[in-house]
Amino acid sequence: MHRPLDCFSKEYSEARDKFLTASQSVEGTLTSYKNTVPDLELELVTDVFYLGAKQASNLLVLISATHGVEGYCGSAAQIDFLHLLPEIDTDTAVLIIHALNPYGFAFDRRVNEDNIDLNRNFVDFTAPPSNNDYQELKPFLALTDLAEKSVLATQHSLEQYRLDWGDMRFEQAVSGGQYSDAHGLFYGGNKASWSHQLIQQLMNEFHISERQKVIVVDIHSGLGPYGYGEVISDHPPDSSGAKWARECFGYNMTEPAAGTSSSVPKHGLMDYLWHQNFPAQGCYVTLEFGTFAVDKMFAILQQENYCWHHPVSTEQKQSIQKQLREYFYPEYQDWQEMVLFRCQQIITMSLKKLAHE
Ligand SMILES: [Zn+2]
Repeated sequence: MHRPLDCFSKEYSEARDKFLTASQSVEGTLTSYKNTVPDLELELVTDVFYLGAKQASNLLVLISATHGVEGYCGSAAQIDFLHLLPEIDTDTAVLIIHALNPYGFAFDRRVNEDNIDLNRNFVDFTAPPSNNDYQELKPFLALTDLAEKSVLATQHSLEQYRLDWGDMRFEQAVSGGQYSDAHGLFYGGNKASWSHQLIQQLMNEFHISERQKVIVVDIHSGLGPYGYGEVISDHPPDSSGAKWARECFGYNMTEPAAGTSSSVPKHGLMDYLWHQNFPAQGCYVTLEFGTFAVDKMFAILQQENYCWHHPVSTEQKQSIQKQLREYFYPEYQDWQEMVLFRCQQIITMSLKKLAHE
């Protein structure tokens, strides 16, 4: 199958232009939300496009770039959707949130303007979760310099922990979210970020809790087998949300809480806020496209994070940033085709489920 791949972009501003152009040819309402970051002239905007009747009973939500640099695949899928524009039931609407973390997308970072991992930012900040294992790993996760010897030494130490603790405990310690180290990896922040507040606003404006059926598909990349789009539900396995998600996606779906996913249970996911506002038939799934090995991801993130908090040469910083971008966005035809095919498949399944039964 050959698909046009011109919905993929080389950078955030191009992705935004393509999204705006694609939305102009479709009947719907566009609203743009500007994120003003001090001392930065670059225009950072989350664009939100709504198609369908305002009062439609059912809603499909498509989100891209929760993790900035992961926006390349999600943005392309959203633009592809607008190009193809499948038939949509008259009682169903579609809400497209393009570049939820525009800063991360623009700078090829996973985190936002405050080094916050947006998908760890949805916690009660009066009592943030603790992550004692992170504290233990912190001396090895935080590099002291970028010399190959130092980087390899920390990786060796971390590998020992992985062997001692097992994959799940180790990955939870590193990537499950931490709230004590603002310059560290997978930092969840100490307040609701700009994007977090925007999501709250959109949930009210688009009357999420008043709909009959809602499906949210949040498109990510970086975990799992190369090119495969894993449908991940972080609903508690016994909840009505998990039941509805299973009805929608069946055997496609995996659950970190049940240990069936390439993702581990995490603190502060954006999912949790949506879960609280869903009708009985409401679910939030992450559509996660695999790229490369997770160890490689941790090593690149460590080095990239170092570059943002220490003086390094422009060449060094650019080189690491490029590696990070390539990790989260393998810019190859096979990978891109798999992304578009799978997104179309999941969107079709969702629209069918919202329209019938
Ligand atoms: Zn992600």
